[in-house]
Amino acid sequence: MTSTLIGRQAVVVGAGMAGLPAARVLADYFEHVLVLERDTLPVDASHRTGTPQARHTHGLLNGGQRALSDLFPDFEQDLAAAGAVAVKVGLELRLEVPGFDPFPQRDLGVTAYAMSRPLIEFIVRQRVRQLANITIREHCRAQDLVMSSAAATVSAIRFENGNGRSETLPADLVIEASGRGNLTLGFLESTGQPPPEETVIGVDIGYATAVLTIPGEARPIMTFDTPARGGLAGIMLPLERNRWIVTLVGRHDHKPPGDWDGFLAYAQQLRTPTIYQTIRGADTLGEIARFGFPASLCRHFDRIEEFPRGLLPIGDAICRFNPVHGQGMSVSAQEACLLRELLQSRAEEGDPLDGLAKTFFAKAAKLIETPWALAAVPDLAHPRTKGQRPDDLQQRLEFGEGLNRLAAKDAAVHGLFVEVLHLLKPQSVLREPDIVERVKALPAQV
Ligand SMILES: Cc1cc2nc3c(=O)[nH]c(=O)nc-3n(C[C@H](O)[C@H](O)[C@H](O)COP(=O)(O)OP(=O)(O)OC[C@H]3O[C@@H](n4cnc5c(N)ncnc54)[C@H](O)[C@@H]3O)c2cc1C
Repeated sequence: MTSTLIGRQAVVVGAGMAGLPAARVLADYFEHVLVLERDTLPVDASHRTGTPQARHTHGLLNGGQRALSDLFPDFEQDLAAAGAVAVKVGLELRLEVPGFDPFPQRDLGVTAYAMSRPLIEFIVRQRVRQLANITIREHCRAQDLVMSSAAATVSAIRFENGNGRSETLPADLVIEASGRGNLTLGFLESTGQPPPEETVIGVDIGYATAVLTIPGEARPIMTFDTPARGGLAGIMLPLERNRWIVTLVGRHDHKPPGDWDGFLAYAQQLRTPTIYQTIRGADTLGEIARFGFPASLCRHFDRIEEFPRGLLPIGDAICRFNPVHGQGMSVSAQEACLLRELLQSRAEEGDPLDGLAKTFFAKAAKLIETPWALAAVPDLAHPRTKGQRPDDLQQRLEFGEGLNRLAAKDAAVHGLFVEVLHLLKPQSVLREPDIVERVKALPAQV
């Protein structure tokens, strides 16, 4: 790919799953890219403190896998070489949803890789480190953004370095991939701008995750229950080095515990016994990790009239999805591809950074639409979920149920459904008139 330089220095805050792909994109357009990370970064695929969620199941959807392969050629080969386990989605993963235990298993031609989150991040980090004009500085905590004399323009970033000293560095563009978005919100406040509108869905989810070795046969399983019955879920996937990761998910006052006996007892309460029966004789490797996820949150930066120049939040700093659907890393990678597309088309313009954020947010909002809806609709069905329910929620839920039944009968619809779930196609493809008609024509019950 040929590219044109558009600036001297870009700074990325956070070396996580949004920051690293974004840094790779910026490397083609800025003389130098600096990634500031508060953590010590491991020299291998081990855990670090800044990403506690990484101890839990992290599925990489096909949409994310494809985006990362676009940014890092041969990415899938890297995953396989590092021990990630190829899983034929639809065929090898046993999906259990009410009415289908299991959902019909078919080869849909979609292969996903299962591995730990630290392994995915490690592979991406290694690829980023190979680029000569990117520097990753560890132990550097970004503190705030510096405004230039031109109103509402970011011109530099202030951070505390590993020696506890404050440093200020100039930046033509700062990408905030800190997961939280506090720098962006702080800057908006300091310039007298209102914060972005937010959509919040209070799900109050609890995760408990064990890493196991399982003697004998095991296979990937996902078990879901209806919101009316509490919505307990269990996810069991293979990991590199012959291990398995099992995550149990509950809500409100029924969250999974952090001790092995309690974990097994909770697994027995899942709607089907498959996960319990597979793991009861397993050996645990390390402690059971727990995580509380209070709410999904989407910040509507696209609705801000004048967004500061030289600043762009990305990844979780824009939208944090209910993790059960495994979307966050994939959307982050797709946003990095979107950024590349915009920089590519603007590089020849007089001022490529002028209005970049506005265009980015408008297109990112489109990207986010499908994953947000896929998670929000079932979440809002749970009676204790807090959030604005659409007037047609019941219709949407019934349509989703009907779609499940149609997909079970028809391999082509099943394939389309999986492509949507994996963020390869927008949800609108499932609203085409012929599909809607066929869903309507189904008998009321299986
Ligand atoms: C329990 C759980 C399970 C999940 N499961 C999945 C899944 O199955 N599939 C999936 O795709 N997604 C999953 N996600 C979502 C996924 O973890 C995030 O969407 C993804 O990591 C977003 O990347 P990010 O770079 O925005 O944030 P992160 O990856 O969290 O990275 C943020 C980085 O910024 C650094 N940082 C923060 N503040 C500063 C600062 N001031 N200065 C310097 N550095 C800073 C942090 O140390 C960290 O390295 C899950 C999330 C949770 C909570």
